Amino acid sequence: MTPVDSLVITTGKVVLFHYTLRDPAGDVIDTSSEGPPMPYLHGAGNIVPGLENAMSGRAVGEQFEVIVAPEDGYGPRELPGPQSIPRNAFPASAPIAAGMQFMAQPPGGPPMPLWIVAVQDDEVVVDFNHPLAGVPLHFTVEVIDIRDATDEEQMHGHPHGADGTGGHDHGHDHG
Ligand code: ZN
Repeated sequence: MTPVDSLVITTGKVVLFHYTLRDPAGDVIDTSSEGPPMPYLHGAGNIVPGLENAMSGRAVGEQFEVIVAPEDGYGPRELPGPQSIPRNAFPASAPIAAGMQFMAQPPGGPPMPLWIVAVQDDEVVVDFNHPLAGVPLHFTVEVIDIRDATDEEQMHGHPHGADGTGGHDHGHDHG
């Protein structure tokens, strides 16, 4: 006999899923379909809240669509932008292109993420809003696998690869 709760997505499960994310016009923003399914730890805030909520209780093999409002996605547009700043505000050696993310260090304040919108000669157009802020997110999802998280994954709050044994490549201190 297998406990029923091992078969569906609940807090503490690592879920592998395929997704395609489209904007309201139907254009594909992002998709996992070219590679392996994406793992996340359910209940740990690894994915946007609206998608995580829609995942809850799903079983392997389920396919569904969900439209996530900005408040349950990347938030509303509420920060300054787009605005032009001089190219020399960036390190001369840093490559700069639309879509890249940088951290700004305002005088006396906490670091703030910003995104490059466009590069125009000696000016760079930046936006402090996430590129998907204010955008309703249309997800098409297929649940590929569900397993229990390892103790280490629970501690870190994220999955270590498809089977829980990898993932020491995600750039933080595991000490
Ligand atoms: Zn980790």
